Amino acid sequence: MQTTDMATILIVEDEERLARLVADYLRAAGHRVEHLAEGHEVVAWARRERPDLILLDLMLPGKDGLDICREIRAESQVPIIMTTARVEEIDRLLGLELGADDYVCKPYSPRELVARVKAVLRRTLAPEPPADQGPLHLHREELRVRAGEAEIELTAVEFALLETLHSAPGRIFSRDRLMDRIYRDHRVVSDRTIDSHVKKLRRKLTELLPDQELIHSVYGVGYRYEAPEDNGLG
Ligand code: CA
Repeated sequence: MQTTDMATILIVEDEERLARLVADYLRAAGHRVEHLAEGHEVVAWARRERPDLILLDLMLPGKDGLDICREIRAESQVPIIMTTARVEEIDRLLGLELGADDYVCKPYSPRELVARVKAVLRRTLAPEPPADQGPLHLHREELRVRAGEAEIELTAVEFALLETLHSAPGRIFSRDRLMDRIYRDHRVVSDRTIDSHVKKLRRKLTELLPDQELIHSVYGVGYRYEAPEDNGLG
């Protein structure tokens, strides 16, 4: 598969009505859809049929989404979007580093889900930029970031935030993880502290690349960095 259209998507979901609804929307978006409702079948099915993306429910009869995700990741990089009925669960899932590509909380709108599927497909199909290239250059000693001719200066906390997110483009970092990375001395900080640093960091990045959104909020979860589009700045 070369484009984000016409992907084969496996829905693993034991709520039949929800599965049917999502399948309809994904088909309307041009995808091929398969559906499994039982956990035990999934790993073997995925190995055999090689879907382009798996939408994986956490709570399933047979085998749960955690084990399925781990087993698939041990042998394949197929994009996985995990769905769960509890928003608090997402933080725990992130902490387990299962290697899922996105997390969506139920109830979700099918329309939003189709958009997330598209985003994950686009991200995972895009060739990864070589680690040291890309338009953003981070200079840790001076706490400076450069893109082309433009340069900004960050605070130590802002720099650590950017460095963490930038180290794994596309990966979602929860606020807890970001706090762990940034405050090595485990000072007590609140979620809002992270949010306010991110806000300042975003504002400074806008001076660097005015039309690009580099740091994305993932509602109820945390943040992720997405590499700017190649605009020849180097
Ligand atoms: Ca379920």
